[in-house]
Amino acid sequence: MTISPSPLPLDFLHQHYPSATEQQWNDWHWQIKHSITSLEQLQKIIHLSDKEIQPISRLPIRITPYYASLMAKDNASQAIRRCVVPTADELMVSPGESADPLSEKHDSPVPNIVHRYPDRVLFLVTGFCSTYCRYCTRSHAVAKDQCHTHTSGWQQGFEYIKAHPQIRDVLISGGDALTMSDARIEFLLSNLRQIPHVEIIRIGTKVPAVLPQRITQTLLDVLKSYHPLWMSLHFTHPDEITPEVAQACTQLANAGVPLGSQTVLLKGINDEVTTMKNLVHALLKIRVRPYYLYQCDPILGSTHFRTPVTKGLEIIKGLRGFTSGYAIPHYVIDAPNGGGKIPLLPEYYIGREDNQVILENYEGKIFTYADSV
Ligand SMILES: *Cc1c(COP(=O)(O)O)cnc(C)c1O
Repeated sequence: MTISPSPLPLDFLHQHYPSATEQQWNDWHWQIKHSITSLEQLQKIIHLSDKEIQPISRLPIRITPYYASLMAKDNASQAIRRCVVPTADELMVSPGESADPLSEKHDSPVPNIVHRYPDRVLFLVTGFCSTYCRYCTRSHAVAKDQCHTHTSGWQQGFEYIKAHPQIRDVLISGGDALTMSDARIEFLLSNLRQIPHVEIIRIGTKVPAVLPQRITQTLLDVLKSYHPLWMSLHFTHPDEITPEVAQACTQLANAGVPLGSQTVLLKGINDEVTTMKNLVHALLKIRVRPYYLYQCDPILGSTHFRTPVTKGLEIIKGLRGFTSGYAIPHYVIDAPNGGGKIPLLPEYYIGREDNQVILENYEGKIFTYADSV
């Protein structure tokens, strides 16, 4: 099935890739091949601000033409643009920041496996990603070939999972696994499926948001032969939910893949209750269930992206009770030094008096509940 671009990307295609056809635009290989990776290319598409122009020669960039078509030409503070265009702020390193804030290397028993929780592992299967998010937790690993991109590099991972029967859930990440060929994805999934104790497989990916052309019928046919397969899709802002993205998610959902979303809370990008509400509502409409809202990890040069924790709590408070429970993600901090994801909730539990539990509802009204002793 081909995806018809909405008028906006087509105009963009004719303007910036005049010799390319609509069919090429809809081909994910073409999108990766023509991705923006240099200052020269970027300058032809948007008017760079002073703050943006300086660091780009030093910092790796990668933006698919599709995602670039969503960027505002003249507005450097537009959300989509801030997610992928580096600024001078990235060169400023603050205390507490680190290249590997989650100490994933420390929790890695064999290359490419992070085993932090008792019953599940993270399997980093490629270092390649189609689009570099400026706030990425694994920016230190992506594009720098820290992950084995050859199939032989996966063997130790398979062996480790096989040797640990307590692993019932394998979370595939990277890089982005959906940038691999259908054949490689099939090889990966079939090897994992041969391990009897692996109950569920999950793929964490940004591809449906930045490269929706990748969700082809042949990929869907591969994915649906390895159920139960779940996906966590990375979304940041309601402007990402275009007709192309809606179609990609609908096709994944129709292939029986339960879809969750992961969103990083980012200053000036999505740190308003209304923005977040628009995002979670748009996600539910395309059958993506908001799963996690992450406090931004303290990667090097991330100060300008990080909000106070009170902001995240305020957003959850502004959602709970005011909209569908299905729309509300878990707000978590992935604790530095390998503490794992720690959930944070506004204070609805006020305390107790004798056997009465004192609770505050979403409107700020106080209620008591007689607890059993
Ligand atoms: C996030 C994460 C998981 C999965 O956690 P869930 O809460 O089950 O989604 C597993 N391993 C690592 C290292 C993680 O960072």
